[in-house]
Amino acid sequence: MGNVYQNPMYITVPVSYTNEQLQEHFDLFFEDLFIELAKFGEIEELNVCDNVGDHLVGNVYIRFRYEEDAQKASENLNDRFYAGKPLYCELSPVMDFKESCCRQYDNGDCTRGGFCNFMHLKKVSKHLKRELFDSQKKYLKIKRQKEEANKRLEKDKLRVSECQGVVKEKRCNDKNRKYSNLEMRNSLSQSDGDVNEREHDKRRKYS
Ligand SMILES: [Zn+2]
Repeated sequence: MGNVYQNPMYITVPVSYTNEQLQEHFDLFFEDLFIELAKFGEIEELNVCDNVGDHLVGNVYIRFRYEEDAQKASENLNDRFYAGKPLYCELSPVMDFKESCCRQYDNGDCTRGGFCNFMHLKKVSKHLKRELFDSQKKYLKIKRQKEEANKRLEKDKLRVSECQGVVKEKRCNDKNRKYSNLEMRNSLSQSDGDVNEREHDKRRKYS
């Protein structure tokens, strides 16, 4: 997502913010984004660029566990706004962000500053990051358990209906058997009748 995070450092006079205020501002942004994005699927990474060059400023890179969730998020977010600005989202083929990250920045000594062409990833407070990823894990676990319980319920339902089917079939067979017994008895009595008639004929002949 391009140019989403608007660092107050770069839009207003830098001296008017303390480091704590800036961190708080960023943490709130990160939390807000994480909660919104987690609705599309499991987030594995959420990176926000701290660069000031046009092509990187405020860019957000999200790595979803599943590609289809990234697709869903991209389609949905392209129709939305953040902080009054439309969002521009595209799918990225990049699998590993480490390659595009500035090593010097991570070591705290990038001489190119905000205009560096490698990504300077803004650091979110550790406790917040842990809290967000932990709650996502818990939420997914509960969701999975619910899905499994539903699957079991569906299976049980299927088994019950199959049993009912067997019982019904058995009843049907019983009925057929009774019916065929009846038929047999009918045909028996008919042949009885034949015998009787023949006997009658015999007697008539002899009388
Ligand atoms: Zn750098």
